[in-house]
Amino acid sequence: MRKFIVLLGPPGAGKGTQAKMLAEKLALAHISSGDIFRENLKTQTDLGKLAQIYIDRGDLVPDDVTIAMIEARLQKPDCSNGAVLDGFPRTPAQADALKEMLKKLEGEVVSVPFINVPAEVLVERLSGRWSCRAQGHVFHSVNNPPKTEGICDLDGSELYQRDDDKPETVKRRIHVYGEQTAPLLDYYTKAGLLVEIDGTREIDQVAFDLLKAIKRN
Ligand code: ADP
Ligand code: ADP
Repeated sequence: MRKFIVLLGPPGAGKGTQAKMLAEKLALAHISSGDIFRENLKTQTDLGKLAQIYIDRGDLVPDDVTIAMIEARLQKPDCSNGAVLDGFPRTPAQADALKEMLKKLEGEVVSVPFINVPAEVLVERLSGRWSCRAQGHVFHSVNNPPKTEGICDLDGSELYQRDDDKPETVKRRIHVYGEQTAPLLDYYTKAGLLVEIDGTREIDQVAFDLLKAIKRN
């Protein structure tokens, strides 16, 4: 059975930071829906052009488009053991679709860590976020600064600030999270899979807590 871990949490909770480390430790693929959209945006594919309209507003890209994109991604060979899903699902319809996809792939969601961070911390996290152009590694100007300003420690590529990390868009994204994604907390609690992690602690401590929570499942 392939193992899938769904990371939940509001924008800025630390999903991307943790997903990369976790996937490496568990030898799973890291699938970030946001990174895939941004890659399509960069190369100006039809999917990228469509997604941009929603991303710029801080809204979710429609379910049908997002689901089809993830379904295609899960076919790739690096998912043979499973994956850490970062940013997908984000609506109950996406969670239902994931369940169907995994039936076909002989996979299952084994754990759903919810990285909990209060809203007031999120704006500060996102306004200081610097993302790497090549692989989406993330840094923070204060909490987790790169060794050299503007350069990714891990692959040497340029660091940039995402357009949708400006305060107005962040506010909208946090609102959208509350309306459309927060219902998944209940969804996965009912499935017996949700584990809450305190996301306000140091990055390494969150990583430790996550691994511990997942091993229990
Ligand atoms: P964050 O760092 O806030 O978690 P992401 O990089 O995951 O942000 O997502 C950036 C944007 O990409 C979202 O605001 C949304 O527009 C779009 N997006 C990402 N994942 C999804 C998804 N599963 N469903 C719909 N839209 C998505
Ligand atoms: P998400 O993918 O959930 O939107 P990120 O992993 O991109 O979140 O993290 C958002 C910002 O917060 C980044 O600048 C990152 O360096 C920083 N960050 C992540 N985890 C922590 C933490 N535990 N403490 C302080 N800052 C953090």
